[in-house]
Amino acid sequence: MPPTCPERQRFPLPAVLRAAGRRALPVLALTALAATPGAAVPAEPPATLPDPHIPGLQAPAAPLVNGAPAQTAEYRWERCRRYGTLVTADAPANHWPLGGAGATAPDTAGGATGNWTGPHDPAPDGPLTGDPATGTTFDGVATILSVPSVTAPFTGTAAHTVEAWVRPARHDTRYRYLWSRQTSDAAGRQGTGVWIRQTGIGFERFRASQFGIRHYCTIGLNSKEANNEELAEAVMELIPRFALKEGVVAIGEIGYDEQTPLEDKYFRLQLELAKELDLPVMIHTPHRDNKSGTSRSMDVCVEHGLDPAKVVIDHNNEETVREVLDRGFWAAFSIYPSTKMGNARMVEILRQYGARNVIVDSACDWGISEPLAVAKTARLALQSGISEDQVRLACYQNALAAYGQSGQMKEEDWLDRAPIDQRAVYEGNSILRGGREPVVENPKNRRSMDDLIIE
Ligand SMILES: [Zn+2]
Repeated sequence: MPPTCPERQRFPLPAVLRAAGRRALPVLALTALAATPGAAVPAEPPATLPDPHIPGLQAPAAPLVNGAPAQTAEYRWERCRRYGTLVTADAPANHWPLGGAGATAPDTAGGATGNWTGPHDPAPDGPLTGDPATGTTFDGVATILSVPSVTAPFTGTAAHTVEAWVRPARHDTRYRYLWSRQTSDAAGRQGTGVWIRQTGIGFERFRASQFGIRHYCTIGLNSKEANNEELAEAVMELIPRFALKEGVVAIGEIGYDEQTPLEDKYFRLQLELAKELDLPVMIHTPHRDNKSGTSRSMDVCVEHGLDPAKVVIDHNNEETVREVLDRGFWAAFSIYPSTKMGNARMVEILRQYGARNVIVDSACDWGISEPLAVAKTARLALQSGISEDQVRLACYQNALAAYGQSGQMKEEDWLDRAPIDQRAVYEGNSILRGGREPVVENPKNRRSMDDLIIE
């Protein structure tokens, strides 16, 4: 079945903007492609196009027939008129159908002509059949289309809608702005903006890197939050967008807290997501009924076809460790002062079970926690006569092996340190406060593992 008018057409070249205000909202619209509002829509049939050649972009799945997959499905890519109609229906306050090589860009809705600075080229073709405004190609860095403060209520801080249709020609390390509204004053750069960059939506590890720290994370809907269904739904919608970003090493922590039906639902959904994204999973096991909750967590993983070698089961203790190890999962122990698992007990577990598949970890928690618990446990274990090899496995190597399966964490990341330059800024923000002297280091020598030991 051919989809009617797919929204992902193939169209050449970057840049096309449109923005539309909706009803009560003040307004701003940049558009590159929409048809001029009010213009007659040309009576042309949609054109069938070759398949897109944008990497990773696939045809939508065929719809089900009576709940079952169709025996055959056909699809084709078409250019259609729907988008122009939608722009017009939104009644934008301003609308810049970018296109043409001139120095100005007319506003077909609000009369606020924009002025180009820097090179820009008309795109040779646009997404809309019969639309003379085909879009404009520009780099998002050197080239700017400045538009006057047309819309009196548009302060940049009141609610507004901006729409744009963009096809990036490249993703690199530059922040290539689609639109922004900003000012600079003594307090620094202020405003809002939307950009495209290699690493996607802003997700900054900049501050940690300025102290020589490589920062990694896991991403997931926590089991406690799964019980707030409205929140859970909203979070689940966001997770896929963040899960594939640089430095994300697993989906987690997920699992059970009170073992409610909602926790079960979102645990399973996230296991499926991890499978789809081929990411490891990090599982929180319940504090109450810990032993049965741990068994159940593993059962559900197996039921969903997860490889135990890609699943870290956390919050183990003397009661759960045997089964976790026997079933081939990673057995992690969060070391806490005074609650849960302490490090003297951990040393006894290492003595009894060895370090194979055991991970010692720590927390920076809501409650009282000890971020240096891994280093302190390693030291205590060495003093207690556990061999250095075993300590290294449990306190270093196993975590690297488990989370390294994401492809996002490698030993070279910290052995070959990136230079530190605290003079650098991220999005105009500096880590320096109160006239601090910036640290600038460009380490030439590879670190040895011994440099990493905290005495
Ligand atoms: Zn936890």
